[in-house]
Amino acid sequence: MPASITGLLRPDIAALEAYTPIVPLETLAERLGLPVERIIKLDANENPYGPSPRALAALAAVERDAPHRYAIYPDPDHTRLRAALSRYIGQPPERIICGAGSDELIDLLMRAVLRPGDVMVDCPPTFAMYSFDAALYGARVVPVPRTEQFDVDVEGVAEAVEREGAKLLFLAAPNNPTGTPLARSAVERLLDLPIILAIDEAYAEFAGTSVVDLVGTRPNLVVLRTFSKWAGLAGLRIGYAAMHEDVIAYLWKIKQPYNVNVAAEIAAIASLEDREERMTTVARIVAERDRLAAALAALPGVHVYPSAANFLLCRMTDGGAARARAIRDGLARRGILIRYFNRPGLDDCIRISVGRPEQNDALLQALEELA
Ligand SMILES: *Cc1c(COP(=O)(O)O)cnc(C)c1O
Repeated sequence: MPASITGLLRPDIAALEAYTPIVPLETLAERLGLPVERIIKLDANENPYGPSPRALAALAAVERDAPHRYAIYPDPDHTRLRAALSRYIGQPPERIICGAGSDELIDLLMRAVLRPGDVMVDCPPTFAMYSFDAALYGARVVPVPRTEQFDVDVEGVAEAVEREGAKLLFLAAPNNPTGTPLARSAVERLLDLPIILAIDEAYAEFAGTSVVDLVGTRPNLVVLRTFSKWAGLAGLRIGYAAMHEDVIAYLWKIKQPYNVNVAAEIAAIASLEDREERMTTVARIVAERDRLAAALAALPGVHVYPSAANFLLCRMTDGGAARARAIRDGLARRGILIRYFNRPGLDDCIRISVGRPEQNDALLQALEELA
């Protein structure tokens, strides 16, 4: 492209490292020469049981009885979904906003807080979207690494916030990719800092704990949630956030009006109505997580970190990064996908999402063959 045209584009974006998105399942299956149904996908923490039966029935009913609903713009205020969420999380609808996945809400919150040069504290290793999005807004990301056991260095964060005049801190609880839970006492201590504290509870249903009850009484707290993992709706893109009325007003001002599509809102409401079925599924995944953790820990030269989520981080204490990559590749050849992170501090680790029992058995069998 002529320089006169690239000169019109943002040089700070040209300088950004390209984001590596996932390869679509169909492409992978083709590459491996396997039918899509044969692929065991344990690389993105999706729900191996799929969406709730009621969510599927609700979508089928629209197609059958009211297909025109898909021809009409969605409700920009997400009125019905926020009413249902209000009952689910025990916060008034005025403190709830919905997004196309919690990824959109992470982005919106950053837009509302960060101007170029502002500081965000990040606690790696963690979800990469935080530092990626912050960089897009020209914010300076100050890392305060987690401890060896991946706990948040609370006093280190407090010190960095003061030293750098940070405005924003994102913490995933439980953390991704490590599975580490975050103590409520740590959240309460961090809320005393002069920052906006965003707690990303993408895996809260698996952990069985939440700080969403603190929203409102602690005006600098933002809690992010999603239907992608426990509700099995990752492909429909639906998440939400709860925060104090004074803060949420900023997000409503900048939100695209039709950010949540009609199908996503219908499926999310039906999933909340199907809460019992969903929580049975969650319990099944948690039981499988513990079975899988014990079996993985029995493999020689593998350390399994404790997880409060629906995935397990494993470190190769023998063989290091080369072994981690070989396992990723060996499993892929057998049609089993897991996550490998080519990142400092994690390059000898793999992350495995918990699947259905038979999928986990296939994984363990393949790992034994590879070991
Ligand atoms: C999966 C994940 C998300 C993304 O959720 P979406 O609602 O699908 O955008 C957010 N935060 C963490 C920590 C995650 O692991």
